[in-house]
Amino acid sequence: MKRYLNYINGEWVESASGRFAVNTNPATGEVLGEVTQSTREDVDRAVQAAKQAQKSWRLVPAPERAEILYKVGELLKERKEELAQILTQEMGKVIEEARGEVQEAIDMAYYMAGEGRRLFGDTVPSELRNKFAMSVRVPVGIAGFITPWNFPIAIISWKSLPALVSGNAIVWKPASETPFIAAEFVRIYEQAGLPKGLMNLVYGSGSVVGNAIVDHPEIDLISFTGSNEVGRQINERAGGMLKRTSLEMGGKNAVTVLEDADLDLAVNGIIWSAYGTSGQRCTACSRIIVHEAVKDELERRLLERIAQLKLGNGLDESVDVGPVINRSSLEKIDEYVKIGLDEGAKLLCGGRIVTEDGLEKGNFYAPTLFTDVKPDMRIAREEIFGPVASIIPVKSLEEAIEVNNSVEFGLSSSIFTRDINRAFQAMQDLDTGIVYVNAGTTGAEIHLPFGGTKGTGNGHRDSGVAALDVYTEWKSIYVDYSGKLQRAQIDNY
Ligand code: NAP
Ligand code: MG
Repeated sequence: MKRYLNYINGEWVESASGRFAVNTNPATGEVLGEVTQSTREDVDRAVQAAKQAQKSWRLVPAPERAEILYKVGELLKERKEELAQILTQEMGKVIEEARGEVQEAIDMAYYMAGEGRRLFGDTVPSELRNKFAMSVRVPVGIAGFITPWNFPIAIISWKSLPALVSGNAIVWKPASETPFIAAEFVRIYEQAGLPKGLMNLVYGSGSVVGNAIVDHPEIDLISFTGSNEVGRQINERAGGMLKRTSLEMGGKNAVTVLEDADLDLAVNGIIWSAYGTSGQRCTACSRIIVHEAVKDELERRLLERIAQLKLGNGLDESVDVGPVINRSSLEKIDEYVKIGLDEGAKLLCGGRIVTEDGLEKGNFYAPTLFTDVKPDMRIAREEIFGPVASIIPVKSLEEAIEVNNSVEFGLSSSIFTRDINRAFQAMQDLDTGIVYVNAGTTGAEIHLPFGGTKGTGNGHRDSGVAALDVYTEWKSIYVDYSGKLQRAQIDNY
């Protein structure tokens, strides 16, 4: 059986715990290999390596650091298909989406490599003569990363590439469900010639390894993507130690369809956003807010399309919807469907665990659509993280925006309309971090900030140039070349 080990200080090492956990393929139940389970001591070893490595890394000119990122981009590109296959086997998303996810990491590598020659600060005029003023970005130090399984290569690329180009070192705990793609990503850094100790991979549970990262006094910042429940705990613990935390958490994203929308386009957008990645994207569409004038027609067209979706192993190119990540996720989704029925929502299709056609060994849930859902029902408010969408009828754009904004999350939203005035109204009033006009709720491009408002985040962004704000401190520098003491605000007034 394949064994996966920690990567600490440039070496692949087994935890002293001697314990291993198995990794399975969610489409087939097949065991893929086993993974070392680490302890607090392993985390500490990783932190010591990171500390040592960061001392010299921070002094390497950023354009030189970026050379390694370009190499990472090249290697990812060469291995794109192989990485996509590993991703699909381990996590279940269909192969086309897995390829897209690897591409996201490639794009991020080149984009952040470019930052090696930018990392812009400001030069501004001083209010005094013969004085120079500027602000520069400096690394924060040691970054602790805790990441989820649903985008196991994209999310670590959003975090690690900006962190490294700006001079930090990393201790990373990937999700327990996706250890193999994590190892491959680290191997790419190794092959690209990243100095040892800058990227450390520590496998293990959230409660042991995750908490050890959060609690470690020498880790300066925590970047976490995952559920609200865990994010809140992390923020409390890390906040008590005055650590910087960047949190990207759940969503309850909605597509709004107005009565003037191109309905075919809206259906395409909804199908892709609600059932792609089996509804397990943080930006997945789980609410469909529709003007009552087009509700029946939209339902009819959606049902027609859902009936054509093919479930199965994501490695099969003809499959549209893969499995969900594990058994407990499958049960949670099914539980939500029961809650929806109890609350009086009308089930249009799906609503069951699939156990036929040879799919019984995997974790397959039938694409599900509810209608006549009220905005205050639990299925309209809580993150389900599966292929379940709910139609909520409304009477106007204003009501649609109110419903969209009524949940505790604020990640992504979308509106389909051909009316430019109403599109701009929506762009102004939808309160999410990401807004789409005439596209579904998913599909971020890496050079724009990614993240959400309200319960989705704590004000930071992954990706885009905004990511640099997480991994750098501002240093303001004044150079007085007047040869005398000049007091700002005093000597010049
Ligand atoms: P999760 O259960 O919160 O896990 C995320 C990570 O946290 C995993 O590495 C997990 O480790 C770790 N963890 C669990 N308990 C911990 C603890 N007590 N202390 C420290 N770390 C701990 O979330 P998930 O189920 O993997 O991912 C799905 C969630 O992520 C959804 O809510 C989704 O919306 C969100 N998400 C958000 C974004 C975004 O950018 N906004 C993107 C993708 C996903 P183990 O795997 O070992 O449990
Ligand atoms: Mg797995």
